[in-house]
Amino acid sequence: MRPIQMVDTKTQYLHIKKEVDAAIHEVLDTAAYINGKPVQSFTAALSSYLNVKHTIPCANGTDALQIAMMALDLQPGDEVITPSFTYIATTEVVALLKLTPVFVEVDPKTFCIDPDAVKKAITPKTKAIVPVHLYGHAAPMEEIMQIAKEHNLYVIEDNAQAIGCDYTFSDGTTKKTGTIGTIGATSFYPSKNLGAFGDGGAIFTNDDELAHKMKMIANHGQQKRYYHEVVGCNSRLDSIQAAVLNIKLQHLDAYNKARQAVAAHYNQAFANHSAITTPYVAAYSTHVYHQYTLQLNGVDRDKLSEYLATQKIPSMIYYPVPGHQQDMFASFGLPDIQLDVTDQLTSAVISLPIHTEMDEEQLNFISSQVLNFINQ
Ligand SMILES: *Cc1c(COP(=O)(O)O)cnc(C)c1O
Repeated sequence: MRPIQMVDTKTQYLHIKKEVDAAIHEVLDTAAYINGKPVQSFTAALSSYLNVKHTIPCANGTDALQIAMMALDLQPGDEVITPSFTYIATTEVVALLKLTPVFVEVDPKTFCIDPDAVKKAITPKTKAIVPVHLYGHAAPMEEIMQIAKEHNLYVIEDNAQAIGCDYTFSDGTTKKTGTIGTIGATSFYPSKNLGAFGDGGAIFTNDDELAHKMKMIANHGQQKRYYHEVVGCNSRLDSIQAAVLNIKLQHLDAYNKARQAVAAHYNQAFANHSAITTPYVAAYSTHVYHQYTLQLNGVDRDKLSEYLATQKIPSMIYYPVPGHQQDMFASFGLPDIQLDVTDQLTSAVISLPIHTEMDEEQLNFISSQVLNFINQ
């Protein structure tokens, strides 16, 4: 059996090596390392894939979130509602900009922000909601957008884990996640569903003015060189990464399908097991399985993961400490909050290997070893 990895970007590369190598060499030949042709062609292709008006490339997903928040002119002390159950980048940028993170619960089925919790958290200082499409499943955007509209709030979608995911509204229309809110942000970190060979990120919006502003912010606040209109930063997607992404974007749907096939295999193996809850897929969302995350009931998670490790099966906990429990927020003087669902999920989740290059033999082995341990 081939060795099992959490992600296998090497094998994925080997399938498209010829095209990718040629695209990289073209960048080397033109020496346009920054803002070369592939950057324009990739952002145009991504806008068209997502059906969004503007795609602004940047250096990584964390910057994408930060630039989005900078463009909205949020002021220190403004409150930003976000789930605690997410990767730290989502809330880190809130803290970095001296905004106040307001951590709320997630839905225990979808792992995504709970609209009722959002409603309860709104105060006169609330300016924005940051839903996260965690693990590749959409947050309940229709409800979030409705709440935002009622309270005049911005919505910044953290789409780092869900590129390619479809959201279906109650009227039957469908949109890609990341294109529904005021602004969407994504990451091209190598292990993400659309991963570069280094860092990268992008910001999406249908708003011309915001797009213009975010482009400037990502480029030292300038439109005309050396004339700086606003405080910005330096955040670029380089040409080599764009060249790689250009090719991989053509395979994104197939990659997401391959992830869905892996998930279907696991789902079948673990179906109706009382100790295992398999990922839920809401009627409004597709699932692009950035992670395949189980909830364990009455299983010693550490022992399971140790056992799997002895069988050379990696597993991960995403994430071992939720935002509201992180030391970095200690100095923020945030009110003491109790997030029972978040704490419970944090203690019960385990993610199994999922990527585009897994074979039947590996999947059978992983599922049988998980069941071996749990049924023993
Ligand atoms: C990966 C990720 C980010 C940050 O992306 P980087 O490119 O690593 O900066 C933000 N939010 C979520 C949910 C992520 O998974």
